[in-house]
Amino acid sequence: MRKKFILIHCLIAGIVLISCSQKEKFDTIIRNGMIYDGNGGEPFKGDVGINADTIAFIGNLSNASAKNEVDANGKAVAPGFIDTHSHHAGNLFNRRDLIAALSQGITTIIIGQDGGSNFPLSDFYKKLNDSAVAVNIGSYSGHNTIRDSILGKDYKRISTQDEIEKMKLLLKQDMEAGAFGLSTGLEYDPGIYSSNDEILQLAKVVAPYGGRYISHIRSEDRYFWKAIDEIITIGKEAKIPVQVSHIKLAMHNIWGKADSLLALFEAARKKGIDITADIYPYAFWNSTIKVLFPNRNFNDEKEAELILNEITLPNDIILGSYEVKPEYAGKNLAEIAKLENKTPARMLIELIARIDEWEKENGRDCQENIMATSMSEADIKKLMQWPHTNICSDGSSGGTHPRGYGAFTRVLGNYVKKEKTLSMQQAIHKMTGLSAQQMGIKKRGSIKVGYYADLVIFNPETVSDEATVAEPHKLSDGIETVWVNGTIVFENKKTTELYPGKIIKRQSQN
Ligand SMILES: [Zn+2]
Repeated sequence: MRKKFILIHCLIAGIVLISCSQKEKFDTIIRNGMIYDGNGGEPFKGDVGINADTIAFIGNLSNASAKNEVDANGKAVAPGFIDTHSHHAGNLFNRRDLIAALSQGITTIIIGQDGGSNFPLSDFYKKLNDSAVAVNIGSYSGHNTIRDSILGKDYKRISTQDEIEKMKLLLKQDMEAGAFGLSTGLEYDPGIYSSNDEILQLAKVVAPYGGRYISHIRSEDRYFWKAIDEIITIGKEAKIPVQVSHIKLAMHNIWGKADSLLALFEAARKKGIDITADIYPYAFWNSTIKVLFPNRNFNDEKEAELILNEITLPNDIILGSYEVKPEYAGKNLAEIAKLENKTPARMLIELIARIDEWEKENGRDCQENIMATSMSEADIKKLMQWPHTNICSDGSSGGTHPRGYGAFTRVLGNYVKKEKTLSMQQAIHKMTGLSAQQMGIKKRGSIKVGYYADLVIFNPETVSDEATVAEPHKLSDGIETVWVNGTIVFENKKTTELYPGKIIKRQSQN
């Protein structure tokens, strides 16, 4: 009897042992998540299993084990956010952990924006291969960079056909290195001097590669509708997807026109033009002070007055940095004008003139930037809600605008929770699945078996941006753990100093 009991006991132990050894094993299991898969649907409870850099299982993993187990405690588990318009790669190799991006849940940045890119892209990718960083990086090829290589200092003019042909060769070189397509920054030098035809000819170069066009359009204020017409025409004639960067209506007399703009986009889409947009969640922008003068008539007091009446008010222009007189940083134009006993229009003209003088004296570019409030909240909300608008930051790691550290968390905290502009699943879709689709990125942006394990756990109750104009580098709240390609890169408000980011090259759409 006793022998029999021992035998049965051993048999049970054996079965338990066998079932233990058959228990499925993963490198990582995230347990008890509220999974937002990035496609915009309702979230669901579940676990995620990761092997190496890939999502291997989604569902119930209560019988499985892993080397690394993370309990999400019912918090949100989402695909890592994709920033489709990022300047975070400035000074990249000295900031390989990219905490500005990771701390707001961003795992992929798309650079080469506003017409400025690392040229040639192949050299940049070689460097990135040798010295990887914490996030994935894809890039466009920048028109301003290419135009500058061909025209140099003689750029304040239309280019000749011969010069355009030379630009095409440089662009092709970048496309072969894996650029996503052509980016333009047509409010900036030297691109502002280009003809529509120059841009169209270059856009056509990227078409056979399956490339796309992304643009800081020629005007976000005075000549807005013409600029919109230009990008729609490029989509139509070059037959490539086109995306309006950081879409905005940045002049008082076009406020309230978001519906008309979206009707234009919808009409274009009905005709087969693949036009989309990205947006950052702030009513104030950040750029060079000179961008205020599209006709480059920096001495024209009438123009300065128009700017200060129609585009941004003297109280609403804050100097982010001003190397000529660093103590002016953080002050607004009205305050500075008062200090110098001048009218705001006169002061604006003088601030610019002093930059030119400083540059002549010092033989290099003067550091300067402004933050200016030019957009209305009502327009921002409507543009954000358009089904073809994804979220971007337009931010940088060392910048003075809080978007560099707070854009994505501000959407979740302010526009989802407080303003209810978007539902949580819509917002996440606009940061992940939609962004991947609009950039042509495969196997990222969704929680799906076989996709790369770029993931973020965040607390939907507490997620919020903390960065402000006064403290632009303050880390967001609520972002708990971030994975890039299966490796934890951010937890407990710190980076892990691991660098699993990959280069993302343009992918075929077939
Ligand atoms: Zn821009």
